[in-house]
Amino acid sequence: ETLPPTADEIEAGRRAYDLDRAHVFHSWSAQDTLTPMTILKAAGSEVWDGEGRRLIDLSSQLVNTNIGHQHPRVVAAIHAQAGKLCTVAPQYVNEARSEAARLITELVPDGLDHVFFTNAGADAVEHAIRMARLHTGRRKVFAAYRSYHGGTDLAINVTGDPRRFPNDNGDAGVVHFLPAYLYRSYFGATTEAEETERALKHLEDMIVLEGPSNVAAVILETVPGTAGIFGPPAGYLEGVREITRKYGIMYIADEVMAGFGRTGEWFAFQRWGVVPDLVTFAKGVTSGYVPLGGVIISDPVFDTFRQRAYPGGLTYSGHPLACAAAVATIGAMRDERMVENAKRLGEDVIGPALEAMKAKHPSVGDVRGSGVFWAIELVKDRQTREPLAAYGGSSPEMNAVIAEIKAGGVLPFANFNRVHVVPALNIPDDQLREALAVVDHALDVADAAVARA
Ligand code: PMP
Repeated sequence: ETLPPTADEIEAGRRAYDLDRAHVFHSWSAQDTLTPMTILKAAGSEVWDGEGRRLIDLSSQLVNTNIGHQHPRVVAAIHAQAGKLCTVAPQYVNEARSEAARLITELVPDGLDHVFFTNAGADAVEHAIRMARLHTGRRKVFAAYRSYHGGTDLAINVTGDPRRFPNDNGDAGVVHFLPAYLYRSYFGATTEAEETERALKHLEDMIVLEGPSNVAAVILETVPGTAGIFGPPAGYLEGVREITRKYGIMYIADEVMAGFGRTGEWFAFQRWGVVPDLVTFAKGVTSGYVPLGGVIISDPVFDTFRQRAYPGGLTYSGHPLACAAAVATIGAMRDERMVENAKRLGEDVIGPALEAMKAKHPSVGDVRGSGVFWAIELVKDRQTREPLAAYGGSSPEMNAVIAEIKAGGVLPFANFNRVHVVPALNIPDDQLREALAVVDHALDVADAAVARA
């Protein structure tokens, strides 16, 4: 492989751009407004755009290339599997799936011993909810405002993000509750302890008012990702576990984004010592090299389907290429101690750098995170905490910050009024520091917007 791209590759990229604009329909977008960046090649935490320019990937491509791009061990495993058995129907045993299931269940506490494989995160969420409904014989699902659970019908309906609004089918079985989010507390809390106590009371009150005997599940991102990377205040998840257990409700931990090392733990819920009934995953499980998701199932839920058929399935449940990629990804993460590295990067590099940015830039309202999972929340005014772009929207100021980051040679992940710092778990320290310096510099643009306001 030659890096950077050759003149021929750049030419091919120009053709691809024209064909994209002629024939490709893009997600979440008004098609005529787009000028998408072309990415020709990638290696580790570096990508090359359509002009052959190198950028540092601070986005992990929607937070999924957890081990960086083109890891040789995973690429080789995909090649080897392709040479042997590319695909097989899910009713047959396949070696890659068996081994992936073993490795995944080894990472989580005892009692979470079975895996149902899906194609991605959204269908993992759909199946987890279906399992919870069948297991409990109940219908209602509680989900947080300020959440993202996927783009398919039920998954977007449980999502709290305003992208739900045009998709909302008015499903009476979905009930939204207010999340614990201290920086913008819905409960007037000013301390973690207050936020935890009030948010838990709110959740329990709502469950009681909706009729606990109707509630199948509470689905919760352990650390809400797309919604702003706000980890739960101390005691909150333990409280959710207690309330759900008290009323016989399934606790579904959505770890699609937070899982597979991102927070500095294999799964984020492990940091709080809670054990959910169902865990959804995707993204990092294969570092995105081949699409794969799944649901980790606790023993009592599994028992429901020992004699009774589970009414659900997918042609590609446990696709051999995807599972081979998962086995190699988990192997690489373990052998190269990437989860430990993510934790170190959070504590020693990203955390201190973001705190310094907060001290320096009046536009920075809040910084928070752990591992390689961090958000910088930008505001027009630190006192009022008015966001630099509305939740669910964009603004010229945010667009200017994003453009400045790209101009500095960094691929950002920005969402509404936040810049997310979500590199690979194994990004080299020097590249991470280089990218953080670019973000720091770009925040001057946000500061100018604050000064004008
Ligand atoms: N749950 C969470 C927490 C997510 O972050 C996402 C994707 N960003 C999904 C579910 C949906 O995953 P997918 O896009 O793979 O369907």
